[in-house]
Amino acid sequence: MRKKLIAGNWKMNLDRRGARELAVALREHVGAGDSVDVAIFPPFVYLEELARTVAGSPLRLGAQNACDEESGAFTGEVSAAMLRDVGVQMVLLGHSERRHVYGESDELVNRKVGIALAHGLEVVLCVGETLEERVAGATEDIVSRQLARGLEGVAEAGLARVTLAYEPVWAIGTGRVATPEQAGEVHTYLRGVLAGLYSDPLADRTRILYGGSVNPDNAAELVAVPDVDGALVGGASLKAETFIPIIECGK
Ligand code: PEP
Repeated sequence: MRKKLIAGNWKMNLDRRGARELAVALREHVGAGDSVDVAIFPPFVYLEELARTVAGSPLRLGAQNACDEESGAFTGEVSAAMLRDVGVQMVLLGHSERRHVYGESDELVNRKVGIALAHGLEVVLCVGETLEERVAGATEDIVSRQLARGLEGVAEAGLARVTLAYEPVWAIGTGRVATPEQAGEVHTYLRGVLAGLYSDPLADRTRILYGGSVNPDNAAELVAVPDVDGALVGGASLKAETFIPIIECGK
């Protein structure tokens, strides 16, 4: 039985005080016996402080990106080891904004996945098609390629620390959410791809989140879809009043 995960991607939003207040509100809300896992992905500069805020609580802390190199002359980058050093547990990789705004390739994402896992981080690997790709009937080709290339070289033990997130690019930040049927189709397909790459039991154990314009009004029907194991939430994760009701839908 997969435990659902509700994750908040704060992107480049909030200031220090707002980040602290939101983390405190969420920390107060989540409990050790909850039937849902909750994670936040704040901007890098707030991670160290928020690691102290969430210490001892089941609220999990993730970064929005990590470098594909160990250390050295990579100006502006943050390594997986540094993230671990300040108490970060998870990292988002392959987010559509990284792929489409910053041109990250499947190969780069794959190197990041490998190094993040090697440093003991859990990975949320994002895949998703653009609207043009969906209209052209290429959704399955795109997400299976992103999945297979993203996980190249990841052994079975590594996969246990990977969560997938299906995030159709056309649904991210647009208010245009996938229907439960659309999400379910792709999630079931992705689980089949995982089974082919690894095995049925491993595919069955891997969480696949849906992301793209999730809000308190549509979250319940999306996370009720059998192959949807939670949500990756952008805009609606920036306020406790909208994120907490989504967390409740995961219970
Ligand atoms: C995201 O950035 O991962 C996301 C899903 O954003 P939004 O919920 O705002 O569409």
